[in-house]
Amino acid sequence: MSVEQAIEKILDAAPVIEQYESIDILDALNRVLAEDLSSTIDVPGYDNSAMDGYAVRSEDCQVPGAVLPVSQRIPAGTVGETLQPATAARIFTGAPVPEGADAVVMQEMCEAQGDTVTVNTVVKAGSNVRRAGEDIKNGSVVLTAGKKLRAQELGLLASVGLAEFKVKRKLKVATFFTGDEIIAPGQPLKAGQIYNSNRYTLRGLLQSMNCEIVDLGIVPDTLEDTVKVLKEAAAAADLVITSGGVSVGEEDYVRIALQQLGELSMWRIAMKPGKPVAFGKVDGALFMGLPGNPVSVFVTFLLFARSLILKMQGCDDVLAKRVSVMADFDWPAVKRQEYLRVQLVEKDGRVAAQLYPHQGSGVLSSASWADGLVEVQMNKAITAGNVVPFLAFQGMI
Ligand code: AMP
Ligand code: MG
Repeated sequence: MSVEQAIEKILDAAPVIEQYESIDILDALNRVLAEDLSSTIDVPGYDNSAMDGYAVRSEDCQVPGAVLPVSQRIPAGTVGETLQPATAARIFTGAPVPEGADAVVMQEMCEAQGDTVTVNTVVKAGSNVRRAGEDIKNGSVVLTAGKKLRAQELGLLASVGLAEFKVKRKLKVATFFTGDEIIAPGQPLKAGQIYNSNRYTLRGLLQSMNCEIVDLGIVPDTLEDTVKVLKEAAAAADLVITSGGVSVGEEDYVRIALQQLGELSMWRIAMKPGKPVAFGKVDGALFMGLPGNPVSVFVTFLLFARSLILKMQGCDDVLAKRVSVMADFDWPAVKRQEYLRVQLVEKDGRVAAQLYPHQGSGVLSSASWADGLVEVQMNKAITAGNVVPFLAFQGMI
């Protein structure tokens, strides 16, 4: 199965959370909107000055050097009087442009002398005036359901006065980690043991995606223990994500437990790193079993689990975005789609991808060093200078 086919199947099978909750805008960062939100005001609410300067009637300033009496002063937060012909109003950024005025001249173009101002430029109607409703019209939809709320969306909602709205409830994701060789960091290593790095990679990824985590810890490599924890995980969460134990080895009990308790939809993907990815269902929960190798966990999470989680969260933008960069390395053709850890550098005025020298699926340093992944199509070699698709970690996590 190709990566693209796998993503399609995963997204097809993923249910969207239906439950929602009301949330205060202060707590809404990274939540997914569960309703369309419309504005009940124009933004800006009134024509206002884009500059510190003088509000005038453009017809009074058709030649440079017009001398006008300054009839009033309008700071932001106050409302001026109607501007009489052949006069000017001192005005500040954000203040309402008074009736009668149709332009603002920036103060750098003016010379004040006592109660008059000389306007040293020709003034065009509408200049330096921010029009009522030019950003948002009263009654228009500001954001639609499915939008993930970033800082700029929060600002946008605040600009129309919304302080509370409906978002999807948080997705609950249960995890556990298989392998008799893995132990928690902080403990001394015995012969044959390794630290459970996947737990921290996965927790970090889930936290960055705003999931509620049910962490069931390390599970011994027996079928009995695996079945027990899988049941517990499925009961507690919308989605179960694990690492390890999903290939064909005799000690790979996650796959067997899943086949016993639920259904396993697919589990071999033509990619590197990360070939064995399990996907299925247990009770009411979806299941995704990521490979055990630390880099494979990271890469398969970004490619599969991330889109799955976004879909379940109700997000309308679930697919990873690729941009084109120039490869600064050669790479041989292989029979699987590969994801190489690269860093972006500038080379001859272009963005070039440099390769981490060790691309092994156990070399976690590569993921930490890299800015993202270059995607190498199946059976296609790369020659330095080729344009290749790049997936940035920034923006994905
Ligand atoms: P498995 O899929 O269980 O055969 O594991 C594949 C490789 O990943 C083995 O080298 C494991 O030791 C390693 N591995 C599995 N789980 C973890 C983990 N939680 N943290 C770090 N490495 C792991
Ligand atoms: Mg194992």
